[in-house]
Amino acid sequence: MTQRAYFDWNATAPLRPEAREAMVAALALPGNASSGHSEGRVARQAIEKARAQVADLVGAEVKNVTFTSGATEANMLALTPALETVGGKAPRDRLFVSGVEHPSVRSGGRFLADKVETLAVDKDGVVDLVALKAALAKAQRPLVSVMLANNETGVIQPIAAIAEIVHAANGILHVDAVQGAGRIDCDLAALGADLLSLSSHKLGGPQGAGALARRDGIHIAEPLIRGGGQERNLRAGTENVAAIAGFGAAAEAAQSARQADALRMAALRDRFEAALLAQTPAAVIFGANAARLPNTSLFAVPGLKAETAIISFDLNGIAVSSGAACSSGKVQISSVLTAMGVDADLARGAVRVSLGWTTTEADIDLLLNAWMRVASTLLKSHANAA
Ligand code: PMP
Repeated sequence: MTQRAYFDWNATAPLRPEAREAMVAALALPGNASSGHSEGRVARQAIEKARAQVADLVGAEVKNVTFTSGATEANMLALTPALETVGGKAPRDRLFVSGVEHPSVRSGGRFLADKVETLAVDKDGVVDLVALKAALAKAQRPLVSVMLANNETGVIQPIAAIAEIVHAANGILHVDAVQGAGRIDCDLAALGADLLSLSSHKLGGPQGAGALARRDGIHIAEPLIRGGGQERNLRAGTENVAAIAGFGAAAEAAQSARQADALRMAALRDRFEAALLAQTPAAVIFGANAARLPNTSLFAVPGLKAETAIISFDLNGIAVSSGAACSSGKVQISSVLTAMGVDADLARGAVRVSLGWTTTEADIDLLLNAWMRVASTLLKSHANAA
């Protein structure tokens, strides 16, 4: 059997052993966390332990972390006109989202479509601060949503600078921190974020869990799911104790290994990119001039089609993706690359390589060997066809 190496960590990461252990223990608990008996209280303790672990990852107060079914739902919970601050209860009148956001943010959450506006980004996909300032003048109480790091390119946004502009305009800032948390610094106060979305499965927790963290003083006046009043009335429904416990354990493990993992991943990623460019000088690495996550590389070569490249990589034992996994299956040009002004033909060939905490030098060897075979076959057939 072909030796395989996994390079699609931005789509989902393998479960960390610490998360698996916490989940197995939680699966043995019989109680409902809302019940007053001992069994219920033990389930409640598992949830509250996880809440403290997730709060710690982002420097939030424990009471300000709400568990959801994932980051898509956390984004929906956050993106509502019904956000209140200590000084202001009037609804947010407009939502501004950057042009490179995940579809769950670009959809506008609970805002009416005509109240949602897209913010321009530069050619590296970084929010244009001058355009941001100008756009915010159109609203009285804006809500702004900008991601910490992009899922396709890994490009990191200048969140602290964005926060300053947003707050000066009487705005609230939501940050989708799904791809940044556990990889780079993600402290709520240091970022200046008011709300922050997280996803368990990008950190090594299970799929189907996430959280919305908020700073003290931000109040969500409209719950997303009404019912039994769980999660302090913000998200009704019996909690998924095992998933939440796994998420908490993963958050703690990600936090403690973060700096060492980031250094190792950046060195491996840089080695891959240097070899890629040496072997294929026509390759373009997107966002290479901006600050990027240590684990992500999105590249294209003129003449290469992403769908065929991915199949060819897969046959050579390598799992990579074409930009956003959420929209794959359909042959679609990445909206992120479109917002960055990348030529449509080049964008069609974009392949994403994303690394994780178990990626090794030997995995990079396999990736580079596979690239040699993929490139020689696919680029040769392109040259013959031309
Ligand atoms: N935001 C970003 C930046 C993402 O990469 C993803 C996952 N593809 C999401 C939100 C959605 O997260 P979840 O899968 O937990 O709903």
